[in-house]
Amino acid sequence: MEVSKTPRYNFLVHIEQTKRSVKNMPALVNADECSGCGTCVDECPSEAITLDEEKGLAVVDQDECVECGACEEACPNQAIKVTE
Ligand code: SF4
Ligand code: SF4
Repeated sequence: MEVSKTPRYNFLVHIEQTKRSVKNMPALVNADECSGCGTCVDECPSEAITLDEEKGLAVVDQDECVECGACEEACPNQAIKVTE
């Protein structure tokens, strides 16, 4: 049996698609306000934020963000927000 046709594979694909479809409030960074301090990177429990060293900017991986709001609370510049 081909791997991609197994019931377990199809179930996992279904779960992944469901997870993506219910995600509607990822954290977004306001580039004008972000100083690149890295505080949010340390606070994110999902390791969803990295720093773009060149631009001095936080970058959120929206597939990894669980919309917990920890970054929003931690940011000293109110530069990152969980959006609707
Ligand atoms: S905590 Fe705020 S200012 Fe600092 S890197 Fe994150 S978004 Fe930018
Ligand atoms: S909302 Fe939570 S999971 Fe998403 S980027 Fe901010 S700290 Fe990370």
